[in-house]
Amino acid sequence: MPRHSSWLVRMHYRMRAVSFAMLFVAACLHDLQIPARSGVWWLLTLVLVVYPHLQYRRARRAMDPHGVEMANLRLDSVLLGAALAALGFPLWITFSAFLGTLSNNTANKGWKGVVETLLAFPAGAAVGGWLWGFQLSPPENMAVVVFCMTGLTGYLVVLGHVGYTRIRQLRRTRETLRLRERDLLAANEELERRFHEIDDLHEQLREQANRDPLTGLYNRRYLDSTLERELARCKRDGHSLSVLLIDIDHFKRINDTYGHPAGDEILIRLAHLMGGMARSGDVVCRYGGEEFLLLMPAMPLEAALERAESLRQAFGGLEVPFGDFRLQASLSIGVAAYPGHGTSAESLIHHADDALYRAKRAGRNRVDT
Ligand code: GH3
Ligand code: MG
Ligand code: MG
Repeated sequence: MPRHSSWLVRMHYRMRAVSFAMLFVAACLHDLQIPARSGVWWLLTLVLVVYPHLQYRRARRAMDPHGVEMANLRLDSVLLGAALAALGFPLWITFSAFLGTLSNNTANKGWKGVVETLLAFPAGAAVGGWLWGFQLSPPENMAVVVFCMTGLTGYLVVLGHVGYTRIRQLRRTRETLRLRERDLLAANEELERRFHEIDDLHEQLREQANRDPLTGLYNRRYLDSTLERELARCKRDGHSLSVLLIDIDHFKRINDTYGHPAGDEILIRLAHLMGGMARSGDVVCRYGGEEFLLLMPAMPLEAALERAESLRQAFGGLEVPFGDFRLQASLSIGVAAYPGHGTSAESLIHHADDALYRAKRAGRNRVDT
């Protein structure tokens, strides 16, 4: 049985058992004055003493205890109406029983409870009257009146207290829910923050995967995906595209003479130089050890050759301070342009490589195409 239903069934059982027993006592006190009629005491005992316990057993075993209890409240009104008709409607007992069942029905079902009581109580009274005849009892003695007043007062106080307890429980539950909701919101915010952190980390990782750690330029991996895309765009827009393949001359000698860190310094300076010369749409990447590639979308061959020449001269005039030394080196550059030298990424790179090889063969420190 759900917790709320079991609480409701137990609470109704206690209230019904006690209040019906009190009505039975009141009936006993009253009936001393009037002659017993046949079957009346059987009915009173059955309704006021036995019935509450039977109902409790039934409600506890029901699949829907709450629904059964709501139906029981209707039955209470019918049976009380019948019992009071059998007693001849003694004024205070009738008033107490009617007000008790009316307020209990109202507390449980609202206006529907009022309507149900107003229909069920007279219906029970009509059946009782039909069975035992409509007779009116003489007014109750003072003992019965005081007993009824006390009992009714006690009953209404208990009913009010039950309502108060429920409201207090509801308030506590609402407060707990509010706190849980606040915790949940905080947890949600924390989760969102973590998601953002993970997104940022992903972004950093993606960026790192595309970058060369020494120079900070794009790496060959990035170039492979970008060259295809840029070439497709230039084809679509009817633009040319140029590729500069750049190789430092006799770089090995620099490493051998001044050490690897000196070579690194030169690589970094060349990367700066290329980055400074590149337009916003150009892609500057470190193609291999001391080889670099400059991808220039929407740039024709003549303009690319001019750029290659100015890069060669700028690098040739560069003095890289390293300890007590001022390092100098030169570049060889192979140039290829779409559409003149090829229409695919591979053919363009291949042509630029061949041009670079020719530049080396021709004595280095030059641009070839
Ligand atoms: P060439 O004029 O024919 O290009 O001669 P080269 O010495 O430049 O060519 P080679 O390919 O023989 O040597 C390239 C050297 O570049 C060899 C390698 O040790 C060096 N290298 C590759 N990556 C790095 C790097 O990250 N840092 C440094 N310092 N050296 C590197
Ligand atoms: Mg090389
Ligand atoms: Mg070289």
